[in-house]
Amino acid sequence: MQANHRNVIILGSGPAGLTAAIYTARANLSPLLLEGLEFGGQLYTTTDVENFPGFPEGIMGPELIDRMKAQAERFGAELRRGEATELDLSEPPFKITSSEGESYTCDALIVATGASPKQIGVPNEMELRGRGVSTCATCDGAFYRDQEVAIIGGGDTAMEEALFLTRFASKVYVIHRRDELRASKILRDRGFANEKLEFVWFSEVKEFIGDDKTGLKAVRLIDNRTGEERDLEVPGAFIAIGHDPNSEVLRAWPIRLDEQGYVSPEGQHIPFTEIEGVFVAGDLHDHHYRQAITAAGNGCKAAIDAERYLEATQG
Ligand code: NAP
Repeated sequence: MQANHRNVIILGSGPAGLTAAIYTARANLSPLLLEGLEFGGQLYTTTDVENFPGFPEGIMGPELIDRMKAQAERFGAELRRGEATELDLSEPPFKITSSEGESYTCDALIVATGASPKQIGVPNEMELRGRGVSTCATCDGAFYRDQEVAIIGGGDTAMEEALFLTRFASKVYVIHRRDELRASKILRDRGFANEKLEFVWFSEVKEFIGDDKTGLKAVRLIDNRTGEERDLEVPGAFIAIGHDPNSEVLRAWPIRLDEQGYVSPEGQHIPFTEIEGVFVAGDLHDHHYRQAITAAGNGCKAAIDAERYLEATQG
């Protein structure tokens, strides 16, 4: 057997990928997990996780991920840096090329590459990324101690991050395109009760204003009822408008993606895909629940089905 051949390769190190690693390692399949661009996925940039069963006091996202990693390694899973940049799924063994220049083959593949924060698509959004425009309040919030910041979005992520930002910022403007939050009741209630939050309804970002030297100076807003524009002067703006699935590497293969790019197999049920031996788990297919616990559950399902597939095909 070649050195870079594995029974199972897992792509992604969020709760789905790491749970798949725990289960396949414990089944003696010696899985290799490629961590992806960001180790730990979205949970790694989350603060308190209050709803993962077994942690009544809550647990920090990075700690939860680190514990899952330690558990996977305890059973013999191998984790490596890098993401899959190319797949050959034409027939088993499947071939994987990684961003670190390595090539691997495997008999079963579990794809748990998750989803990444969406962009608004306005001028200066990318140019000012890391210079005032951010998609991660937990990473960058502490830079804005006693300053005013803005967050864009009205869902759970926006509300959670807005509340987190109140630990540092003197005021957090919540810019939302409607006058009703999509966030769940508990977070809505917490948001409305927090005096540091100011809601800016019916507003969309037209442009981020600033440059390389000054960083972000202001967010140009447009009122979507009147068309009126105004500049909200803030040194920090956080985008929290949802996610796009990381399904790019699957596009060349007969795995059905829906119009948003989420894996949505035809005539199969998750974790199976149209390609025998290729399984999916986590936010890559789930745009409905998107919870750490559901991703972990789906990672477990993918691992068990991969194990059964290998048993059936290899005896
Ligand atoms: P989401 O629920 O899809 O919410 C995205 C928000 O951004 C919505 O309010 C949406 O506005 C707004 N938006 C989308 N595109 C926009 C654009 N181009 N310009 C301006 N605004 C835009 O995404 P999410 O908040 O990231 O949450 C994703 C999932 O994770 C949800 O199922 C959520 O429940 C879950 N989650 C749960 C927790 C928790 O339980 N603690 C924490 C975080 C996330 P509209 O409302 O007008 O569509």
